[in-house]
Amino acid sequence: MKAVVTTGPGVLEAVDVPCRSEEGTVSVRLERAGICGTDLNILDGAMPIRYPLTLGHEMVGTVTRTPPGAQISPGARVLVNPSINCDACYLCESDRAHLCSRGGLLGRDADGVFAETIGVPERFLHPVPEGIGLAEAGLLQVLGTVVHSQQNVPVSSETLAVVIGLGVSGLLHLQLLNERGAGRVIGITRSRRKLDLARNLGAHAVATPDEAMAVVTEISEGRGADLVVEAVGTEATVLQAIELCGYSGCVVIYGTVTGGMGKLPFYRLYLKELTLRFPRAARAADYDTAIGLATQGRMELAPLITAHFPLGQAAAAFAAARSGDHLKVLLTR
Ligand SMILES: [Zn+2]
Ligand SMILES: [Zn+2]
Repeated sequence: MKAVVTTGPGVLEAVDVPCRSEEGTVSVRLERAGICGTDLNILDGAMPIRYPLTLGHEMVGTVTRTPPGAQISPGARVLVNPSINCDACYLCESDRAHLCSRGGLLGRDADGVFAETIGVPERFLHPVPEGIGLAEAGLLQVLGTVVHSQQNVPVSSETLAVVIGLGVSGLLHLQLLNERGAGRVIGITRSRRKLDLARNLGAHAVATPDEAMAVVTEISEGRGADLVVEAVGTEATVLQAIELCGYSGCVVIYGTVTGGMGKLPFYRLYLKELTLRFPRAARAADYDTAIGLATQGRMELAPLITAHFPLGQAAAAFAAARSGDHLKVLLTR
């Protein structure tokens, strides 16, 4: 079967590999898989991995084969939770399987989902109702992580929120904040096209990074934002998020910063009594919430998908994802 494999930093191939169907796993045939910044970072060698590795962690598919005793049936459409977990450690036993001490991520710590068929334990699977379009279903994994990162982040009609970075995840954060009743959400990006899209998707105001401080200061009457979601993943945007946040506000650092040697403005953080959150992946319940939001049509997902490529054209798909011209690029069988 075809799979998208990296054999070294920067090297990507669509190759034929043996089928993966370990005993006791459910076989899932790929319908849609999303390429995201994490895949690009892994391909570039920014995260340590073993080679060769099949990439990918965002997938919806169709169950083709089940082991004896499975609850799920062939033909079911499913979202794959890509967080590998042991189902036995103290984290797994306390509803934190996404942080499992023996776990990791498909497509980073084990072969991933950019393959015609994968084999996964049934507990990784979430049924996806037919009411969600196939392409839109390709965004459910990201939406699950967005839901997770806003979990326990209070939002009200008084909340002034800012989202820095209006790629797929930033635009999902924006919509989810509105859906949860945030008073006003301001979107920040350099891209003119994304600013327009953010307006159409419900942003109260939009601004470029250079304008951001002036716009937030004016709208908040000098108080700063109550909540800032950083959805880029650079040290510069993390620092900007801290600057835009007002007293006793909350900064959600959703983007993955892989460097780690930068400095934080510790005294500013203290003076403003900020809360910093570093969400990672999602819990099973967050994926079910995401599926519910999509099923009820409460999120606009279709405008966030801008290209489809078959697995065999993975190199072109990765180039498109990297180009900055696209939102979500999906792979098909
Ligand atoms: Zn992703
Ligand atoms: Zn565990």
